[in-house]
Amino acid sequence: NADTAMYHAKEHGRNNYQFFSHDMNTRAVERQLIENNLRRALESHEFRLHYQPKVDLKTNRITGVEALLRWEHPEWGLVLPERFIMIAEECGLIIPIGRWVLNEACEQAVRWRNEGISPVSIAVNVSALEFRHRDFFEHALAILQTTGVDPTCLQLELTESVLMRDVATSATLLAQFKAMGVQIAVDDFGTGYSSLSYLNQFPIDVLKIDQSFVRAIDTAQDSDGGIVSAVIGMGKNLNQRVIAEGVEDAGQFAFLDAHGCNEGQGYFFSKPVNAGQMQAMLNTGACI
Ligand code: C2E
Ligand code: MG
Ligand code: MG
Ligand code: MG
Repeated sequence: NADTAMYHAKEHGRNNYQFFSHDMNTRAVERQLIENNLRRALESHEFRLHYQPKVDLKTNRITGVEALLRWEHPEWGLVLPERFIMIAEECGLIIPIGRWVLNEACEQAVRWRNEGISPVSIAVNVSALEFRHRDFFEHALAILQTTGVDPTCLQLELTESVLMRDVATSATLLAQFKAMGVQIAVDDFGTGYSSLSYLNQFPIDVLKIDQSFVRAIDTAQDSDGGIVSAVIGMGKNLNQRVIAEGVEDAGQFAFLDAHGCNEGQGYFFSKPVNAGQMQAMLNTGACI
């Protein structure tokens, strides 16, 4: 509350009467600290990609991996995306970071191919600012060409809100990527603010059911998994593959499989792991 805030302001020797809450202040300081550190994280090579497998529910085979960004801070240790992605977006750093992610993921796909591992799709998350950036397509194209990755192995994960922000531009961009053979996935499906009729006009290959719905399969929120089975049915009718995110237990797996969901991703199969650990899984082709 305001009293506590003033107390803290005085305690820290600030002689002003500005109204702020202690929480807001702490958050602003933390935000600034993260931004300052983010600025040198790229050149100091502090970013890593971890990979989480996507599994075919019928065969238990790995069909692809999702690249997930990790920040190995020299003092703070491993920082997860929820702590810094939004800040990177707000200060524009997501553009060079996103390019690093795409390039690293494509290089990794080529390294695995060269190790004799049969090609799997590699999915990369693309944030709003990246997707809207005027050079996004040209840069992605350049990365595809310099790394020599098979474009049909690359999958871009976009959320509904990113796609819906400017429907005409999204449609043009998606068409350009589709012409290259790149796959398009809608991430966190069901949580966004999208119009089904527009979604239907985009060239979407994959729907990723958000983990909140998967979690609700065996809880009272959605006792018969109605939302999940509805999304699976919609994907089937629109010829899209459906992947369930956040699959954590055998009950969810069984429900998803019984309702015709194509693939699953989640701790039940594997947590996100580093490239070496992922390679070991890819060598056997399975993770359970
Ligand atoms: P997302 O794309 O929806 O990724 C799935 C998130 O769920 C990942 O969190 C993953 O570790 C987590 N997860 C996977 N399986 C399970 C499970 O069974 N249970 C639970 N509770 N969680 C599970 P992570 O890696 O912390 O990433 C969070 C979000 O940050 C991602 O959500 C994505 O939106 C964003 N992100 C990650 N990497 C990148 C990146 O390279 N670029 C951009 N722009 N965003 C990224
Ligand atoms: Mg994703
Ligand atoms: Mg997701
Ligand atoms: Mg998410």
